[in-house]
Amino acid sequence: MKLGKFDIYPLLDGFFRLDGGAMFGVIPKVLWQKTNQPDTNNRILLALRTCLIDTQKELILIDTGIGDKYEGKFEDIYQVKKEINLKNSFKQIGKKSEDVTLVINTHLHFDHCGGNTKIDKNGNIVPTFPNAKYYIQKTEWEAANDPDSRSRASYLKENFQVLEKAKVLNLVDGDQKIIDGIEVIKTSAHTYGHQVVLIKSEDKTLIYWGDLIPTVSHLNLPYLMSYDLFPLQTMEQKEKLLNRALKEDWVSFFEHDPKIAIAYLIQEGKRIRIKSIVE
Ligand SMILES: [Zn+2]
Repeated sequence: MKLGKFDIYPLLDGFFRLDGGAMFGVIPKVLWQKTNQPDTNNRILLALRTCLIDTQKELILIDTGIGDKYEGKFEDIYQVKKEINLKNSFKQIGKKSEDVTLVINTHLHFDHCGGNTKIDKNGNIVPTFPNAKYYIQKTEWEAANDPDSRSRASYLKENFQVLEKAKVLNLVDGDQKIIDGIEVIKTSAHTYGHQVVLIKSEDKTLIYWGDLIPTVSHLNLPYLMSYDLFPLQTMEQKEKLLNRALKEDWVSFFEHDPKIAIAYLIQEGKRIRIKSIVE
């Protein structure tokens, strides 16, 4: 898809499943299962969708999927399915991991930064994108490196620790312009240092929601994940940014929606509906 002068590629790193109840917090199953069919273990299908932006000067990757450093038990619990993976997705559009100049992580949960690093021929963990600078919120970095017990299972150090040693880590503190046309907004709420990304070219804006609005079902304000550390703040941030998105006609990018990658939003009475442009 074109966004002003930029080329935008939604790139899949496969699919996985999480508990449907955990994905929708206090929303009863009778409601969420209408649009999200659970499997026999109550898990729903989610995409691992990253966004590659070619500005013609820089090649920017937002989030990096789940990666491939995990083992059998992890793969089984989360039903990781990688018939499509980030490496193949890159190949399909004729790009190489070496070409990426910037990586932005919305946060450091394993399904957003697993592809940050890989195991090389000698068995060492190294950055997957050797020529890229990685941008992460400072508070997120601190929380991930010293996690509380509730968050520990989501922060896997092999996905990020090596970035500091490799000197490719750039810590961001709050809202910031990264380069012309790329801005981050710190929303926290889902985690201590979650950020969303705004991509702007000419008069067009795209928002990469990350886990603030992981799927189109989460456009409903009270549809909040149990994974959110501060759900009421998530709702506040969601409402604030959704109002801007509707008013300024932003394009939305959904990281985890199993079908919809990119869509415009339309207000219909109290509800927000989508007009899908890329599936
Ligand atoms: Zn998350």
